[in-house]
Amino acid sequence: MQLPFGSDPRTDILRQLQADLISAFGRIIRPPEKRRDPVWVLVHGVIGAQTKTAASNASTDGLLAEFCTWEAVAQVSVEELEARLKRQTFPSVAAKRLKDCLQAIIAERGAVDLRHLDNLPIEDAMAWLEHLPGVARKNSAGVMNASSFNRKAMVIDGHHRRIMQRMEIVPSKADTARTYDALMPIVPDEWSAEDIDEHHLLLKKLGQRHCRPRTPDCGKCFAQSYCVTAKRQT
Ligand code: SF4
Repeated sequence: MQLPFGSDPRTDILRQLQADLISAFGRIIRPPEKRRDPVWVLVHGVIGAQTKTAASNASTDGLLAEFCTWEAVAQVSVEELEARLKRQTFPSVAAKRLKDCLQAIIAERGAVDLRHLDNLPIEDAMAWLEHLPGVARKNSAGVMNASSFNRKAMVIDGHHRRIMQRMEIVPSKADTARTYDALMPIVPDEWSAEDIDEHHLLLKKLGQRHCRPRTPDCGKCFAQSYCVTAKRQT
């Protein structure tokens, strides 16, 4: 039987987890000046596969500083883009994806402009982004939530997905899109877009400190009283 909206017990676990994350790590609130333009966030994601955030920040800023507009970047050859994306882990893949993505936006919108998405329901906006070359769920959610759009969408990275799987809040083999689809309906109603962003940033810390990929340190983790994996170990 379908539970009434808001009554899923996993919602209370998310509330408890958020409170415990804040007690353990403090608040991590993205300041308004760190909310970049949605196109910047999109480009950052398209070129960012398996690359450290700081390197992708530098590459994205570097492209805009050199060419001034994303329309100009779209005209640069793949080879020239690759030469400017050497910081990225996969420069040739990043260059091809970026050119294809920017050109697809120009073909549909006439310019590299995402402002129309702010007027769409969030599911429609994310579906539009995900039909672009090189854009998957993590990036579409990032454009919606971590940019100046500041809308309610959960960014799911590897840490976030692993923790949700170990806590059995989402199925054990859920990929990013399935994790997103399982989580969004159980996010506490009262959470703002900023709360959702903070939850994701705090979970990254938990993944780095305790819930590491190979060896979760459940004995030192504050979530052990409500984490299914930790309970199985006792
Ligand atoms: S209790 Fe263990 S498995 Fe659960 S979130 Fe913490 S470290 Fe990960």
